[in-house]
Amino acid sequence: MKKVVLSIALIFIHSLVFSQPPQSWSSGQILQAIKKLNVLGTVIYIAAHPDDENTRLIGYLANEKLYRTGYLSLTRGDGGQNLIGDEQGIELGLIRTQELLSARRIDGGEQFFTSAYDFGYSKTPEETFDIWDKEKILSDVVWVIRYFRPDVIITRFPTTGEGGHGHHTASAILANEAFIAAADPNRFPQQLQYVQPWQAKRILWNTFNFGGNNTTSESQFKTDVGGFNPLLGKGYGEIAALSRSQHKSQGFGSAPVRGQAIEYFKPTGGTAPQTDLMDGVDLSWKRIGKEGAHIQELINNIEKDFDVAHPEKSVPVLVDLYKNISQLTEGNWKEKKLQEVQHLIAQCSGLFMDATTNRQFIAKAIL
Ligand SMILES: [Zn+2]
Repeated sequence: MKKVVLSIALIFIHSLVFSQPPQSWSSGQILQAIKKLNVLGTVIYIAAHPDDENTRLIGYLANEKLYRTGYLSLTRGDGGQNLIGDEQGIELGLIRTQELLSARRIDGGEQFFTSAYDFGYSKTPEETFDIWDKEKILSDVVWVIRYFRPDVIITRFPTTGEGGHGHHTASAILANEAFIAAADPNRFPQQLQYVQPWQAKRILWNTFNFGGNNTTSESQFKTDVGGFNPLLGKGYGEIAALSRSQHKSQGFGSAPVRGQAIEYFKPTGGTAPQTDLMDGVDLSWKRIGKEGAHIQELINNIEKDFDVAHPEKSVPVLVDLYKNISQLTEGNWKEKKLQEVQHLIAQCSGLFMDATTNRQFIAKAIL
């Protein structure tokens, strides 16, 4: 028993070091995370700035479909206006980085950036690429794709200019080039000592209707991302509003809404979806081969036996699941799911740590 407690403590310390601040989950959130253990799908959304992302779609994909869902913002929004302070440039980029991380804590996505600097408004992608080192930023996008291994890539903007800002069009051009380059071992081979080439199934443009510009059409692939999540007690329009309202330096906020919300998509690479964004992708443990089958079974049982009033009862079976996943030979999903089980064990055990000090300052910035 001592050993189990010690390993739980170590797991918790590990998660403190490597993840965002710990939160206590409700039983509904724990059950949601148990269900997610059985979903092996990944989607990444790519655009140029903090605030370009579609928070409702990200919230839906992360919490309804239970995919690992990422947002890659090429820049940190260094070049925008600051409505709540004097910080500009790099300092504003730091604030907006935190705003995006805060948004992802709410909508369940993971946040990525490239090294591209937001130098302010740009009329064309050509002008943008004159200022950015295009090859360097492309390699950053390829790196994120090879690391995150998305089945589906979604861009906010098209390559054809309807997105307006040169950074927007550049983000779509880079995403579509990276869709191909990430799978090619001859592109950026220096990355291959850390990550493997990765071929996403498809890339789509999430068409839009805003700013007097309607690029959607009823003939496009569409899906309803509205709806209500009973385990979280919120609709996706409500999660999106909370997430969107983290863009405080931009004075952003959106009203929470419920009900139908149709998103439209235009394929720009790979096979077009017919019935689902993930058409043709095996989302079960079978995707890692035969050895995944019994993992699926173990998780089904953990879900079935979960006691909402006593989540701590699930700790022993989760520890057993951890051991079973540890024995898999496949690397990518093994690593991700082990992390998810670690978080679940910490949450189910109700582990809590509190630190206080009688000193007001423990570190002083050197200016
Ligand atoms: Zn933008």
